[in-house]
Amino acid sequence: MIGIPTGTDVELDLRLEAVMEGVLVSGTVRGRAIGECVRCLGEAVEEVDLHLTELYVYPERAKAAADDGDEDEDVRELEGDLIDLEPALRDAVVPALPFQPLCQPDCPGLCSECGARLADDPDHSHEILDPRWSALSGLAGVQDEREES
Ligand SMILES: [Zn+2]
Ligand SMILES: [Zn+2]
Repeated sequence: MIGIPTGTDVELDLRLEAVMEGVLVSGTVRGRAIGECVRCLGEAVEEVDLHLTELYVYPERAKAAADDGDEDEDVRELEGDLIDLEPALRDAVVPALPFQPLCQPDCPGLCSECGARLADDPDHSHEILDPRWSALSGLAGVQDEREES
């Protein structure tokens, strides 16, 4: 429904700290997630700005912990001298994104008659546009029936 598109810049302001077990990564992640408005299918843009703290352990530490039966499923390992940030970023960003993204907080959605985006056209109306409806509007009974269905 919503996510940070591939190739988009994500601003990272991270601090790497050597600790006993490995490397502690902490800092802020900023980016822009793009999704689809659940009401009008328009573009929903969500600014992402969150704090990240992740411990990357040395592989031998992780292995030792596993041998002790002390395995933590969520443990992230250093890959040699490298840190693979992507899974950690994904795990941090995804829960921070709205479950039902909206293009604007009070998105009026789509016109039930023609599917037009009401946000683009707040005064949208069909009574005047369609001569058949204006002819019918004189017949109160028919008009009421139509509105109920
Ligand atoms: Zn919308
Ligand atoms: Zn319409």
